[in-house]
Amino acid sequence: MDIAVAGAGYVGLVTAACLAEKGHKVACVDIDAGKVALLQSGKSPIYEPGLEELLKKNRERLLFTTDGAAAYRRADVIIIAVGTPEEPDGSVNLRYVREAAKQIAEAAEKDCVVAVKSTVPVGTGDQVERWIEENRKNPVHIEVVANPEFLSQGTAVKDMLYASRIVLGVESPQAEKVMKEVYDPFALPYVVTDRKSAEMVKYAANVFLALKISYINEIANVCEMVGANIEDVTAGMGMDPRIGSQFLRAGIGYGGSCFPKDTKALHWLAAGCDYELKTVQAAMEVNERQKVKLIEKARTYVNHFRGLEVAVLGLTFKPGTDDIREAPSLANIAVLLEEGANVRVWDPAGMENAKRVFQKEVVYCSTIAEAITNADICFIFTEWQEIRQFDIRQYAALMKTPLVLDGRNCYSLDSAREAGIIYESVGRERVCPAEVRRRLLENVDVRNG
Ligand code: NAD
Repeated sequence: MDIAVAGAGYVGLVTAACLAEKGHKVACVDIDAGKVALLQSGKSPIYEPGLEELLKKNRERLLFTTDGAAAYRRADVIIIAVGTPEEPDGSVNLRYVREAAKQIAEAAEKDCVVAVKSTVPVGTGDQVERWIEENRKNPVHIEVVANPEFLSQGTAVKDMLYASRIVLGVESPQAEKVMKEVYDPFALPYVVTDRKSAEMVKYAANVFLALKISYINEIANVCEMVGANIEDVTAGMGMDPRIGSQFLRAGIGYGGSCFPKDTKALHWLAAGCDYELKTVQAAMEVNERQKVKLIEKARTYVNHFRGLEVAVLGLTFKPGTDDIREAPSLANIAVLLEEGANVRVWDPAGMENAKRVFQKEVVYCSTIAEAITNADICFIFTEWQEIRQFDIRQYAALMKTPLVLDGRNCYSLDSAREAGIIYESVGRERVCPAEVRRRLLENVDVRNG
């Protein structure tokens, strides 16, 4: 089939690559000329495992362009995968979706299906249909379908090729038939429903995962207070098939471009119907509190951060991506800088993006060892494999005082004890050798004046 994809971001680009892999001819459109030029030169503008290889392998079926009109004119299916950022009140900014719908309506010269893959509030399909009708230039029939996406950054290619289900929100059997021609080569289960229900599936699913994270983070906080170990607790919980083991990793909260925005959007959507989604409100509040939990723990050792050398390991909101949008690291680094700390950071993929947020205020290091050498405190914000595999004894060897605050439970408590470091993690007992604590207090007193 001839397919066009509007948007070459994390979702659009992976969608285009996977559809080409399954034999479709795909034109991927973006308004960002720099991104398109990079793609035309065979490079991926984002870091996503397996993506660049897939783009290379299928380059004969893939076209990258800024010329939306040319791409949409003769396409059988046009997938909208543009961004849907949040507004300050939690509502969704549909500017990019509206723009794409208008461009499609003006360009289409044959009957086609427009599938909305962007995460959009319930009812947006109807709105897209109206925008298309208002701007349609030719006497063609354009059907609008809701086709939400469930991929996770860091495993996006695999998630799309082997998705748990394809959700189609359709208003006619003809639209269903066309969308099944797109997805039949994937041989995945379908959930076919009406457009509004499909739009709701996306929010209900995403927000459920956010709730699960906030719930386990609160349980972790209580574990710390009562002397239980969150990892043993989640192992015991996760084996129950009614609960499942995924999204039960306690930490310093969710981030990224989806959970924070989608929780707010669903809450806003319900509020518009005079209904307060209390569970969602609680999950959002818990997450905000959780994000700065490590800073609070650090304050039990130091009165303030002024003049301290602070190492930060991990900037991205999760491993396997270069995306730092809404990453907990950002809020923490902002506090550290505001309080006068000297911050040195390391991340294997997120430093280029971070340089747009913190330019000269932080020092970017090329190795973990460089970041922690002579540091007074080290924070871990992302559970990168490189960090998990880094020899924990090196913190004792290289840091001025080995105080490690790990927001992702990268190390075992036994290894921390053996290494002789102060080790604070989430939902687990603190490891605090008296001698190291004494050295730390002396050092911090001197440095803080
Ligand atoms: P993104 O910001 O990475 O990419 C969006 C792209 O759309 C940008 O490159 C932008 O230049 C382009 N764009 C904007 N207007 C355009 C237009 N008129 N025509 C062509 N291109 C245009 O966003 P993303 O992370 O890929 O997310 C896209 C949508 O998918 C959002 O609604 C998001 O909520 C949803 N989603 C994201 C994920 C995820 O993990 N990132 C997962 C599922 C769903």
